[in-house]
Amino acid sequence: MTNAHLKMDGLAKSYGSFIAVEEFSLDIAQGEFIAIMGPSGCGKTTTLRMLAGLETADRGQITLAGNRIDQLPVWERETPMVWQSLALFPFMTVRENVEFGLKMRGISGPERKRRVDDWLERLGISTYAERNVARLSGGQRQRVALARSLVLKPKVLLLDEPLSALDAHMAIKMQGELKTLQRELGITFVYVTHSHSEAFSLADRVVIMNGGRVEQIGSPQDIFLRPRSKFVAQFVGGISLLEGKVRGKEDGNRFLETRDGKVRLANCTGLSQGETVDLAIRADRISVTVTPGWGENEIACTLISEEFAGAVVNLHLETTSGHSLVAQVQQRELDQLDARTGARVYASWHPDDGFVLEEARQTRGAPKVRAA
Ligand code: ADP
Ligand code: MG
Repeated sequence: MTNAHLKMDGLAKSYGSFIAVEEFSLDIAQGEFIAIMGPSGCGKTTTLRMLAGLETADRGQITLAGNRIDQLPVWERETPMVWQSLALFPFMTVRENVEFGLKMRGISGPERKRRVDDWLERLGISTYAERNVARLSGGQRQRVALARSLVLKPKVLLLDEPLSALDAHMAIKMQGELKTLQRELGITFVYVTHSHSEAFSLADRVVIMNGGRVEQIGSPQDIFLRPRSKFVAQFVGGISLLEGKVRGKEDGNRFLETRDGKVRLANCTGLSQGETVDLAIRADRISVTVTPGWGENEIACTLISEEFAGAVVNLHLETTSGHSLVAQVQQRELDQLDARTGARVYASWHPDDGFVLEEARQTRGAPKVRAA
């Protein structure tokens, strides 16, 4: 992205010998909604803190609208942060909390009042203006935390798991409000969350982090449908992996030789003969039958367990060679299937529905330019 609004280039942060963020680079467009996800301890908060100026990066640069900001103190950056814990001042009223940052920046009394009133109104908390924040509900406190940041007219709003303190119902409501607000204001959001549904429904792009590094950046669809590494596939969930060797071509499809037999793969551009790859198949694309001969890419399995997941049931299967597969079926299909735990079943999927993980190929040293 050449005209990045917010640009992070090679950010790194260690605490003593411990590397919290090894390398973080990302270009964000004006008004983009970015969600950062990853397991606990992978460096999400540290990354946000470097953006906010609460932590100095050991290496790397941050540019906002063309200006270096990584050496600026917190109060000179236009990147306030909304915390997981909200971090409101407990002995202050709603108004005092929202006003605080403006006071620190030396904004005059009348201007301060106008801006605070405006945001209290917009977030529907005017009624509580003079109330102590300790006497608010979770949702109301969340709005105060947002107002406190937004009143500063930020260029970028940083949010660290902002809805995790709310109950599920309130979190969903606030999620919708946040998205509307972000669209209306056109402010860039960098949003850390552990919730897949929040990240996938809110963000324009999702960043998956692992052990202080970026594993994948892409649209929610990219990440969900085309994870590039085993880590992302497992993190997103519901994806089965089978190792296979690339064999001959037929009708534009490739054959993969797995330990459980040959399977066909339609998405095979750039694969080379003899290469070992990881084949990935989404659980909702795998069909299960009790008799063979019903589908393509059929693999004999044992039904290990059934996991009830609301509208659908996850069937955990084991192939003859001991690989695990997960198939997601409708409850109705399971009733028709009529198979008990331990039964022999057949998993199958369309050749269009299998895809090869990119990362595994790179680490195995697949050639950069490959003949089709
Ligand atoms: P996340 O937000 O992804 O859960 P953090 O960015 O908070 O992860 O932390 C990344 C790693 O850095 C963690 O292992 C954490 O324990 C460590 N860490 C964070 N802050 C400090 C600190 N001030 N001193 C030492 N280690 C820290
Ligand atoms: Mg964190």
